Amino acid sequence: MPSPRRATRRIARHRYGLETVLVHGKPNSPKWDYSHHVVPPMSASVAYRLESEHRGAKGFVDFVSPTASHFKRAPIYLYDRLDEPTRGMLEERLAYAHGADVAVAFASGMGAISAVFGAVMDSGDEVLAHQTLYGCTVSLFDHWFPKYRMRGRYADLSRLDRLERLLTPKTRVVHLESPTNPTLECLDIAGIAAILKRANRRRRRPVLLSVDNTFATPFAQRPLALGADFAVESLTKDIAGFGTDMGGAVMTRREFESVLFLYRKDFGAVLSPRAAWPILVYGLPTLATRLKRQEETALAVAAYLERHPKVRRVAYPGLPSYPWQALARRQMVDYTGAFAPGHMIYFETAGRTPAGAGRVAERLVDGIARKAYTITLAVSLGQVRTLIEHPASMTHAALTPEEQRKAGLLSGGVRISVGLEDPQDLIADLGRGLASA
Ligand SMILES: *Cc1c(COP(=O)(O)O)cnc(C)c1O
Repeated sequence: MPSPRRATRRIARHRYGLETVLVHGKPNSPKWDYSHHVVPPMSASVAYRLESEHRGAKGFVDFVSPTASHFKRAPIYLYDRLDEPTRGMLEERLAYAHGADVAVAFASGMGAISAVFGAVMDSGDEVLAHQTLYGCTVSLFDHWFPKYRMRGRYADLSRLDRLERLLTPKTRVVHLESPTNPTLECLDIAGIAAILKRANRRRRRPVLLSVDNTFATPFAQRPLALGADFAVESLTKDIAGFGTDMGGAVMTRREFESVLFLYRKDFGAVLSPRAAWPILVYGLPTLATRLKRQEETALAVAAYLERHPKVRRVAYPGLPSYPWQALARRQMVDYTGAFAPGHMIYFETAGRTPAGAGRVAERLVDGIARKAYTITLAVSLGQVRTLIEHPASMTHAALTPEEQRKAGLLSGGVRISVGLEDPQDLIADLGRGLASA
């Protein structure tokens, strides 16, 4: 298992730093001859002209086995839903960002997440997932999997000593988020990957590890370098970065590219080139710069919250009080190898009872919605504006109270996505909100 730092150096196998590569991409992409454009073009052609029957036939043959041809010469484009140059350039750059062989882009994060399971699971298979999970991923497992006789099982994947016993002959994928949404719990990706690797020696079909990397972003964490088989991301969040476009992506090894392409072709959740373009031109090249500034601000905001009498507990990987500090320092590192704690904060308000704390959180979020200039009450995350929300009643409302309790989600919990504002302004608005909560 390579250490994250060694792996980081390995993905920087080019002579230039990854932050530079995210601005420039490949010097001459075979995806498109744009050597005369400073900005890559946004293509807008559903179908592609074929100068011969032979070229058309070859295009279809290549598409069915893209790994055979994809990396050597320009693809033969046929139809947007199969493959397309603007999206292809974004995929190339996302693969770089993750140190992955390939990236396959989808219309949303959920399009990408559902494609991983759809592509590798058979009827009868199950996913073993961590118990704290994005609400729609839970809904996918609980409501749609049974139609295909598939199942999602939940467990506490922070207990590495129990993991191997939780695997059954039906387990096909282990799926987790780290840090978790919304509670910012850190799970040991390399540790889990090592246990699966050992268990797989005795299995006919390997258990695959899938990591939802949305909260960390590839700037702060590259799951494939830690031993995962799939990194999935909602591009909608930090990678698009401005809250204007939806998208998702799966980063993986070359062997899975073909099945993901074919799955996307038939299920159709393909990223439109018009949505891929701003992510390629604005989002990805500014990711590192935004994240560095947001991390500094998040640390200041988290430290302020931690000292506030109306706050019971703050979970932010950059705080010395963070319970998984040593693990976070090992696995959340930027392209230079420095610790990268991200910009998401979760905290619990104080109250004599859990319900009392819940009322404080509701009054805080309401007061901010009405009065704060710098903090917006909204779901989603990873935008230039700071966003606040109340997970128990909003993003995670699909979970029953019992499921919320198991996920460690209390009604006093509040989630903040720190944006690009002046930290002192954010602290002042939070202070006024807390004072009147
Ligand atoms: C938002 C989010 C998703 C879903 O992404 P969409 O682009 O909204 O489909 C998945 N996982 C996590 C952790 C998220 O925050």
